[in-house]
Amino acid sequence: MEIKTIGVIGAGQMGAGIAQVAAQSGYRVILKDIENRFLDLGMQRITKGLDRLVKKERITEGEKEEILGRIETTLEFEPFSEADFVVEAVVENPELKMSVFKELIRVIREDVIVTSNTSSISITKLASSTDRPERFAGMHFFNPVPVMRLVEVVKGIRTSQETVNIVVELAKKLGKTPVVVNDFPGFVSNRLLMPMINEAVYALMEGVAGPEEIDTVMKLGMNHPMGPLELADLIGLDTCLYIMEVLHRDLGDDKYRPAPLLKKMVDAGYLGRKSGRGFYSYE
Ligand code: NAD
Repeated sequence: MEIKTIGVIGAGQMGAGIAQVAAQSGYRVILKDIENRFLDLGMQRITKGLDRLVKKERITEGEKEEILGRIETTLEFEPFSEADFVVEAVVENPELKMSVFKELIRVIREDVIVTSNTSSISITKLASSTDRPERFAGMHFFNPVPVMRLVEVVKGIRTSQETVNIVVELAKKLGKTPVVVNDFPGFVSNRLLMPMINEAVYALMEGVAGPEEIDTVMKLGMNHPMGPLELADLIGLDTCLYIMEVLHRDLGDDKYRPAPLLKKMVDAGYLGRKSGRGFYSYE
């Protein structure tokens, strides 16, 4: 089956980025969220992203309009009956994701592959809430999606090799470099990245150094393009905390204990860039 139409559920930071990249690669996109204001925000994000490409002369104004014309927004599941492939990118909550899949599978064709952009939730568990665990996989994009080249393709216990192959091929057609990994808490990316961010928060909490000093050490000393605290602000501190909780609970090792300061920041509503304040201020 040829993939022509991609359904994307969730028009937030990630969903909008995935929709943009898919439409730029020539696919028709159906983009769903729960309220019009979230769809509007998603479309604004995509338009801004494309405007930047026009400015850099990577695409023309006409091409921008064509790309936008390939994206159809909806609050319903019904239009997904026309999707050939689905990527879910709603908030990182297993119950919510599973309830979304229950509604989705009522309308999509039997041969359609369903993927989740989850950062940490077990793909095997999410797959079990669908009628197609063999045709379910993780498709983990990175933020910002139009810029970051990696897609971690996550193989659940019951994911078929054919499904993995199709997801890998699609990731390549979207201009990304896929890496196939097995389903394990945090996969590879967040198993390594989040403990580093968490340790940076501990270092800050213990007064080893301030945020700028910690980030500068990692940027200049380790050649990281961003420091761990800046990166945490970009990802969202709630998402970072959630992933640490998954690693801690599912791997059962105290070395993954979330830093108390990270919890405190999330309780205070300091979620990073998206709330205007995290380890740095964006107001
Ligand atoms: P976000 O909060 O920016 O966007 C989530 C969107 O989902 C919101 O627009 C929300 O209204 C929508 N939504 C909620 N319930 C819905 C439903 N039932 N149906 C349709 N839409 C619904 O979050 P995000 O940063 O885009 O993260 C989305 C997913 O991507 C999460 O699973 C996250 O772990 C993963 N992820 C995030 C990053 C990152 O850096 N932020 C990186 C990789 C993966």
